[in-house]
Amino acid sequence: MRKESLPRRGKIRTKLVLRLVFVALIPLIFLVVFSCQNTYQTRINSISELETTTILQAESTIKKWINEKFLSFRVVIVDPEMNSFKEISEEKQKFILINILKTDKNLEEVSFVDLEGVMRKKFIEGGIKAEIETIDFKQKEEFVKASQGKGCSSKTFFEQNIPKIILYSPVIDYQENVIAIFKGKVNLTPLQEILEPIKIGQTGYLYLVDREGNIIAHSLRADLIGENVKKIKGVQKVLEGKTQKGLDEEDRYTGICKEKVIGSTLPVFNFGIIAEWPEEEALQIVREIRDSTLRFSLITLAGIILIAFLFAQGISRPIRKIQKGAKVIGKGNFDFKIKVKTNDEIEELAENFNEMAEDLKEVQRLREVEIKSKALAKSLIKERELSETKDKFIKTTAHQLRTPTSVIKLAIEFLSEKKKEFSPSIQEFLDDALSGTKDLANVVNDLVAVSEFGFGRYKLKNPKAIDIIKVTEDIIDKYKFELKEKKIKFQFLIPGVGLEVQSTLRAMRFIIQNLIDNAVCYTKREGKIMVSIRKVKDFVEFEIEDTGIGIPKEEKKLIFSECFRASNAIEQKNVGTGLGLYLTKNIIEAHNGKIWFESEEKKGSTFYFTL
Ligand code: ADP
Repeated sequence: MRKESLPRRGKIRTKLVLRLVFVALIPLIFLVVFSCQNTYQTRINSISELETTTILQAESTIKKWINEKFLSFRVVIVDPEMNSFKEISEEKQKFILINILKTDKNLEEVSFVDLEGVMRKKFIEGGIKAEIETIDFKQKEEFVKASQGKGCSSKTFFEQNIPKIILYSPVIDYQENVIAIFKGKVNLTPLQEILEPIKIGQTGYLYLVDREGNIIAHSLRADLIGENVKKIKGVQKVLEGKTQKGLDEEDRYTGICKEKVIGSTLPVFNFGIIAEWPEEEALQIVREIRDSTLRFSLITLAGIILIAFLFAQGISRPIRKIQKGAKVIGKGNFDFKIKVKTNDEIEELAENFNEMAEDLKEVQRLREVEIKSKALAKSLIKERELSETKDKFIKTTAHQLRTPTSVIKLAIEFLSEKKKEFSPSIQEFLDDALSGTKDLANVVNDLVAVSEFGFGRYKLKNPKAIDIIKVTEDIIDKYKFELKEKKIKFQFLIPGVGLEVQSTLRAMRFIIQNLIDNAVCYTKREGKIMVSIRKVKDFVEFEIEDTGIGIPKEEKKLIFSECFRASNAIEQKNVGTGLGLYLTKNIIEAHNGKIWFESEEKKGSTFYFTL
């Protein structure tokens, strides 16, 4: 029984497409990830570089500005007479302070503090004398530092939201000894002016914070000055005194404008500079490159899928053809040819299928032949059985008919010999009876011969040397009466020596009697019959020539057929089986001999045989 076809496990085309796409996808994903990562890193580096450069640029300007301040506040008393602050006259003190105040418009108030920590003179903008501060400056760290010869500053502070700072600068004599401290309040607004022109891209900015995290200056948003932003990550770092370059993940944080930024920081003097660039703009190019890479990848992927599909189609189509062809062949159509032209193993496979179909066709043909021959053998056996039954029947009937026929014939011949004793009408009746009995005897003889020599199956059994001349003489003897009555001239030509053939007496008698009987029967009164027996090479040749009715030209080829009688013969004599020559030919051929004849209608016939 044919097996149920297995459930489909997926089309080969789909599998191929998936595999090819999978293979192509790995480098593609790698390419996308690598390219995005690379672009991102490169961009981060360049952002960091830009921010650092900008910060350094601002740093140098701020430093320069502050240094200039310290320089302009440095008071040196070059008079060798004045080696202590007390020796500087009050007029002189006023003059120095107001001069310094005039030279720097960012200076809001100036004062001198002696080394005892007591303020001596103080002026504000416009050279107005101000009230002396009564605090003990010795307690102030900045004072201590300045009295050691180093300029230093206070914490930044705000007045009406304007950042300000106090600078402490030593006053030195000609021997460079500190004799007092100059104290100046400086408005830090110029720092805002320094930062303002500095830009990072369109949206990036720079700002300056003091040690508390208050904004002193902002390149984009002056309105934020004074705001405390110490919670901002970048600010925290700079307050810790760390320099950062915007390269780490930590450097991406929420900036003061509440948006994600990439920040870099640098502590400078006692401020911190922070550069922040909103990611929105800073990483825009990364996003654009990422988007175009993704677009390119998607298009490439679509292309790969298409190519993979076409490629897979190219492979799966011939396979499907073979599959369909195999089904057709499987259903028994062995003439079906699978046509695949791929010049590879698939084409070879298709050819193998075609060859297999050829082989199956041959097997089927052989099986059919086997079935037919079995059926044929069966019917032959049946036919042979039937034929044997028929032969048996003919044999029995013929033998049983022979005795009464002979008795009747003998009786009528006996009466015919004395027919003169009977009336003319009885004589005529006796003639008819004799002729009829002879015909009947002939038919019975043929039947006996058929039962003996069969229909084409006769085989010569136990042959022995037979004197053919003697057999012929005996038969001629039987026809003496008839020959005499029909006044037929009879000639019998034989060689001087006896001639023998390897046969049986019955066979030889049947052949020769049949030929002589036909010659006598179909030769009219006063005709001629000549029988001749001779040796030709290794054979014995028998010839019987008559001047009888002959055989019509168009019927000659049927003469040796079973039960055939020529039309002129039927006219001549009603009774006859048409078996004589047929059996004669069979018997002669069973001897490996030959029989043939020459005849012309109305002139006569000559029959020959060789043994
Ligand atoms: P049958 O003589 O009983 O008819 P045969 O088989 O002996 O049968 O002969 C077959 C036929 O051959 C005859 O019917 C006859 O037509 C033809 N035939 C045979 N011998 C002769 C002959 N000597 N002359 C003319 N016709 C002949």
